Amino acid sequence: MIEEAEWDRAVAVLRSAGEVVVGCHVDPDGDALGSLLGLAGALRRGGTRVWATWGAEDPKAPPIYGFLEGLETVVPPAEVPERPDVFVAVDCGDPSRLGTLAGHFAAAATTVNLDHHRSNPGFGTVNLVDPGAASSAELVYQLVRRMGATPDPAEATALYTGIVTDTGRFQYSSTSPTTLRVAADLREIGVDHERVATEIFESGSLAYLHVVGVVLSRARVEDGLVWSWLDTADLDAAGLSIDEAEGLIDAIRPVKESRFALLLKQRAEGGGYKGSLRSRGEVDVAQIAQALGGGGHRRAAGFTFDGAPDEAARAVLKLADG
Ligand code: 5GP
Ligand code: MN
Repeated sequence: MIEEAEWDRAVAVLRSAGEVVVGCHVDPDGDALGSLLGLAGALRRGGTRVWATWGAEDPKAPPIYGFLEGLETVVPPAEVPERPDVFVAVDCGDPSRLGTLAGHFAAAATTVNLDHHRSNPGFGTVNLVDPGAASSAELVYQLVRRMGATPDPAEATALYTGIVTDTGRFQYSSTSPTTLRVAADLREIGVDHERVATEIFESGSLAYLHVVGVVLSRARVEDGLVWSWLDTADLDAAGLSIDEAEGLIDAIRPVKESRFALLLKQRAEGGGYKGSLRSRGEVDVAQIAQALGGGGHRRAAGFTFDGAPDEAARAVLKLADG
C-alpha cells in the first residue's frame, strides 16, 4: 500500500515540474516499457518537457514490443540532462538497474521511485512502491489518474502491455481485483487487447520455434528445479537475434515435476549468462537471485552469472536448499 500523502507528494512534484526524465530498467521488459511510455506520454500531453530513456547507448526495445506507439520518442542517455529537475525511475528495484543513468538519477533535484519490487529500499525523494501491485504499469495508471489525467489510447495500450506481461496474462497470484479493474479501465479507453496478445504472444518466427526446441530438448529436472540454457551459437544456428529470444523461460516453466525454473541465456556482451528464475510459489526466487547479485520478485527474478550453465544451476540449487 502507498500512503495517500506519498501519492500527493508525487502529484505535487510532477505537476510543478517543467522538465522530467523518465527512466526504466536496463534490458526493459513489457512492464518497464509500458510504464515508461505510459507515464512519459501522459506527462508530455500535460505540457511537461519529458525525456524517456533507459541505460543503453542506443536504446532499442525487443522487437515483440515494436508495435507500441511512443517508442520513437525514446532518447539515448547521451541526450538526457545530467542534472534534471525531476527523475522518475520506473520498475527499478534498486538504482543500479538504471545502468548508465544512475548518475543522472543521483544528481536530480527531486527523484520519484515508482516500483513494485519487494526488495526496493525506497531510494527516491518520493517513493511510490507497492509490492502488492502486480506491475509498475498498474501504479503508473493510478498516478496519472491522481494527476487528473486519463491515458490516451496509445498510453493505455502501453500500460495494458505492462500489466498483461507482468501478470503472465492475468494468471499469476499477483493479479488482484485492482489489476483487473485497471485493465478494464484501459480496455474502456480503447486498448485492442487481442492485438496486444497477438503481437506479444503469437508472433514468433519459425527460427524462434527452433530455438524453443533447443531449450526444450536440453531441459532437465533436478531436485525440483527445471532448467535449461541457450548459447549465442544456438541463436546464430537458428538465425535469431538475442533480443528476439524472449519468453523462453515460459516454455520450460510449466513442467509438472518442478517447483521452480531456471533459464540461462549466454550474454552477447559482458560474458557469462543471464539467469531467469520462476517459482510456482513455494520457493522464494527473489532471495536466490539476490544472493547471486541480482533481484526480482518472490516468483520471478533474475541475475547475471560468470560461469557455465551447470555451475549456475548448482549454485541455484544450493541456495534453494539453504
Ligand atoms: P526476467 O527473468 O524476466 O529477466 O526478470 C524477472 C524479474 O527479475 C524482473 O521483474 C526483474 O525486475 C528482475 N530481474 C531480472 N534480472 C535482474 C538483475 O540482473 N538484477 C535485478 N536486481 N533484478 C533482475
Ligand atoms: Mn515489473
